[in-house]
Amino acid sequence: MDLRGKKVLVVGLARTGIATSKFLKAKGSLVTTTEVQPKEEMKEAAQELKGMGISMEWGGHQIETFLKQDMIVVSPGVDLNIQPIQRAMGKGIRVISEIELAYPFIHVPIIAVTGTNGKTTTTLLIGEMLKEDGKKVGVGGNVGEPLVLFTDETDRWEVLVVEISSFQLEAIEGFRPRISVLLNITEDHLDRYARYDDYIEAKVRIFANQNSGDLAILNRDDPIVMQYRGRVKAKKVLFSLREKLDEGAFSNGQNISLRLGREAEEYSLSKTPLKGIHNVENMMAALTAARMFGCSKEAIQNVLDRFEGLEHRLEFVREVGGVRFYNDSKGTNVGSVVKSLQSFSEPVILIAGGKDKNGDLSPLKELIRERVKHLILMGEAKERMTRELGGQTDTIVAQNMEEAVLLAHQKAKGGEVVLLSPACSSFDMFKDYKERGKVFKETVKKL
Ligand code: ADP
Repeated sequence: MDLRGKKVLVVGLARTGIATSKFLKAKGSLVTTTEVQPKEEMKEAAQELKGMGISMEWGGHQIETFLKQDMIVVSPGVDLNIQPIQRAMGKGIRVISEIELAYPFIHVPIIAVTGTNGKTTTTLLIGEMLKEDGKKVGVGGNVGEPLVLFTDETDRWEVLVVEISSFQLEAIEGFRPRISVLLNITEDHLDRYARYDDYIEAKVRIFANQNSGDLAILNRDDPIVMQYRGRVKAKKVLFSLREKLDEGAFSNGQNISLRLGREAEEYSLSKTPLKGIHNVENMMAALTAARMFGCSKEAIQNVLDRFEGLEHRLEFVREVGGVRFYNDSKGTNVGSVVKSLQSFSEPVILIAGGKDKNGDLSPLKELIRERVKHLILMGEAKERMTRELGGQTDTIVAQNMEEAVLLAHQKAKGGEVVLLSPACSSFDMFKDYKERGKVFKETVKKL
């Protein structure tokens, strides 16, 4: 890709946008950036790019700027449906995501992970396994560093493990991972996609450029993933919690078996610090990818034995009077809350709600009836959630996180679990899911 002298617009100036602008500048492009936030809110970005000869537009997008470009590069959070991008596309201007921009300049194999839930956990697991095996591995994409920071380095990395969201996949053209992993597809981001099908279509683009020499690791138990398997030209390897497979990974909860040839290899889960059946799925997907990339069995087992879960993902906070408190603030859609609830056999006091993503709540009904003793709802979604789920169990509305935690504490008895797993995003009350989880943890620590 020859970028010299090309007029390129970078849309969105968070971390990825800054790195992208610098990358393009170094390649000789005429770079403009555009950001909806006002300059005062983005001091760091403005400071970094100042004096580099990059023109910056703040506080909104000017359509004329978009229409003047040879190419537009969108940052991960940017919606392709916004009017200036649609107008530019209509005029035939090339619009790509940052991963597509970086791709031609990356000279090592890529292992790419997508899915509605579990991407970060699985990406980091694969990265750790390969590192443990002594491989020079970079971890990037949605987690870690933007991909443009892994370009043009021929000996620093042997392999990249990349977490990719549906938004990034929407604007790829040639991006082709050697190994792709699709963990699951459940409803999410319906605040942004007009139809669920559009979201699914974006996810399965991860396979679009793979061919029979590549590898795709798929969740056998996920009906939507399996429905789309016809789209996969790469060699398919499945993982399952429900079935023993002739080829692929499967588990009884105590071990993971991986059968790639005739003999199955066994991995023990007796020491794993990770809680939850969904994490068994993540571990199956990760070890299959790592092993098929040539990682040793020992390295994989070492990582399974010590890999701690990540903050805000079914994270144990504290026990108070026999009640165990868990922070799952990253549980921002219905599918992840289903898995989190399935991970407890104890009665649960569930704190949920936040900014509504308009997902279908019905997959939660039966689980709430069976496992949730009290449901405490907050945030913008509380009315709809009360209407649609309130009939399943005792349901209370709280005005804020502090009140929700206090109510949960009052209601809970020894041996029970208090779980924050919102099924919503956080932007109505917090900066992001991290701040929400932090406020929850701080409140719990004060009890
Ligand atoms: P992502 O990067 O896709 O958002 P994370 O690893 O950050 O995934 O986990 C996000 C949320 O989804 C957490 O609440 C976690 O408990 C839940 N989760 C993790 N893995 C899975 C999975 N395989 N299936 C369903 N839910 C999962």
